[in-house]
Amino acid sequence: MRVTNHNYKNLADLKQNLDLSHVDSKNTLMQVFSGLVTESEVRQIQSIINEKCSGITFIGTTTAGEIHNGQVFKNTISISIMEFEFTGFNSYYFHHDDDYELGRNIAKTSFKNDTKVAIIFIDGLLTNGSEVVDGISSINSNIPIAGGMAAENGALKNTFLFNNEGVYRKGAVVVSLNSDVLKVFTDYQLNWQPIGKFMTVTKADKNHLYEIDNISVSDIYKKYLGDAVGDGLPHSATEFPLLKIEDDGMEVCRVFTHKFEEDGSLLSIGNLQVGDKVRLAFGNVNLILQRARKNIQEYSLLQFEAIFTYSCASRIAFLQSDIVQELEPLNCVAPIAGFFTFGEIFHKHGKNNFLNISLTILGLSENTNQQIIHTVQKNTVKNEEKNVFKNKHFIVLDALTNLSNTVIDELNNANKKLEEAQNKLTEQANHDYLTNLYNRRYFNEVAQGFLQVAKRESNNFSVLMLDIDKFKGINDSYGHLIGDEVIKVLSAILIDNTRAADIVSRFGGEEFAILLPSTDSTGALAIAEKLRRVVENNTISIERYNIKFTISIGISSTNYRDDNHISEALNRADKALYEAKENGRNRTVVFSNKVFSDS
Ligand code: GH3
Ligand code: MG
Ligand code: MG
Repeated sequence: MRVTNHNYKNLADLKQNLDLSHVDSKNTLMQVFSGLVTESEVRQIQSIINEKCSGITFIGTTTAGEIHNGQVFKNTISISIMEFEFTGFNSYYFHHDDDYELGRNIAKTSFKNDTKVAIIFIDGLLTNGSEVVDGISSINSNIPIAGGMAAENGALKNTFLFNNEGVYRKGAVVVSLNSDVLKVFTDYQLNWQPIGKFMTVTKADKNHLYEIDNISVSDIYKKYLGDAVGDGLPHSATEFPLLKIEDDGMEVCRVFTHKFEEDGSLLSIGNLQVGDKVRLAFGNVNLILQRARKNIQEYSLLQFEAIFTYSCASRIAFLQSDIVQELEPLNCVAPIAGFFTFGEIFHKHGKNNFLNISLTILGLSENTNQQIIHTVQKNTVKNEEKNVFKNKHFIVLDALTNLSNTVIDELNNANKKLEEAQNKLTEQANHDYLTNLYNRRYFNEVAQGFLQVAKRESNNFSVLMLDIDKFKGINDSYGHLIGDEVIKVLSAILIDNTRAADIVSRFGGEEFAILLPSTDSTGALAIAEKLRRVVENNTISIERYNIKFTISIGISSTNYRDDNHISEALNRADKALYEAKENGRNRTVVFSNKVFSDS
């Protein structure tokens, strides 16, 4: 494969100097990047090429800048001529009212069994590139796609596509490269720096973005980046796009083409979905240029015969003259041609993406030998040592980004700690310090809630009041600390012998209350008697003592018709408990004066 790139200053230059006399039109495919963006200029370019070599295949697009051998031009015509040895190609024009269907048609018609890549140019202003790419993926996402949205220089609000057969305002021109040997490499660069907190898209319809964090997008820009950026929308967002990180870690930026004054919503180039996590981002020149140099080392190992780059118009708007520093090193790897787009088409690892702001790379090689002799002389990387930080405001920008991101990290950490402390406080407020059972306040709150539900659902539950017998005597005989141990052992017995849904609480001192949901007084009596017997038969061995103790229990079920407050049921249980004590302790009394015990 032989690739030569050519640049022509104007139509006269093209007419005079485009030389296609020696090319074999059967093997030759051209990409034409036109910085001349009126329809009549584009038609003249098309007819000049057709006159020079009838039957030659080419696809063309208008641009926001032309990339020719690593240099950037504006308002010129750049032509990349690819002469293949082992690769065939087909050229198509597609149009459809529905952008998704347009994508489906591209895949259905232009993808063949041996298609290694399809280069696609889509009109830049009338078609939603995201929908086209999604349509393609719905048919086949394994065949690499590359290319971009046609662009213009900002004045005319028209973009054009063209090929041998026509000039088009809307749709897509496509070439598929079909081959057994063609090697295809794709990559993308973004390196826009996220700044500020993560936000969530809360209202969006395809490429119409309404709200982020339930606030209109325009107000989000105003709130975080100030009035100048907020009032300058949609164009000001070119410098501060939204950056979304996909599940696979890929960074995707979104810029905007239109602002709706009535609700502050924006039209973006490419879709966003409700739930997408986004951050504001800005072009970090230092990061971009560092990365560009690093990539050269990687790419030079890959032995391309040609590199095409489709790079976002926002990139040239932001980087301005520094853009050359990003592109020039690529030309050391292989001759590079391409254009500045209104959106980039990208493929990697079986997944297609529609991007904004990025620089995408398509590397091609037909060569089966390892050693490739480049058709262009190797350039040396210029400006390697150029210090972009000489420019004061980049230092300021970098410092402010750091400040903002650090403050956000600190706030996030502080919030996390606060939340933990609050959880701990809530836990402490609801629990008894000695036994870690629920305390009286929390028990009453929960039990009152149970009563409300019981009243609504016309059913009842039971409460137990429970008190250690002659506990004063235990304190007197063994001391307070051992008395505390007895309370703890009893707590454990109560937890171990009740269900998870039962609510066991220490009311104070050696007095406990237990709520038994959906349990009538017969059921409650069975549980109480079981508890009483376990305690009675238990011996606590502490130090040199073997301590035995007993408990008395009073039971009352709620009365959902008459009880308005849980204290009414608790008072009845308390009365039953008093009754149990009066009757000799170590026994259970169900309110209504029935006494139960083994003796
Ligand atoms: P009765 O069978 O009538 O319940 O007799 P009693 O001795 O258990 O009754 P009383 O309520 O008169 O005594 C309870 C004692 O429990 C009094 C108090 O000093 C002691 N006490 C209350 N809270 C604690 C505590 O947290 N730890 C210890 N060790 N003792 C406590
Ligand atoms: Mg007691
Ligand atoms: Mg007591």
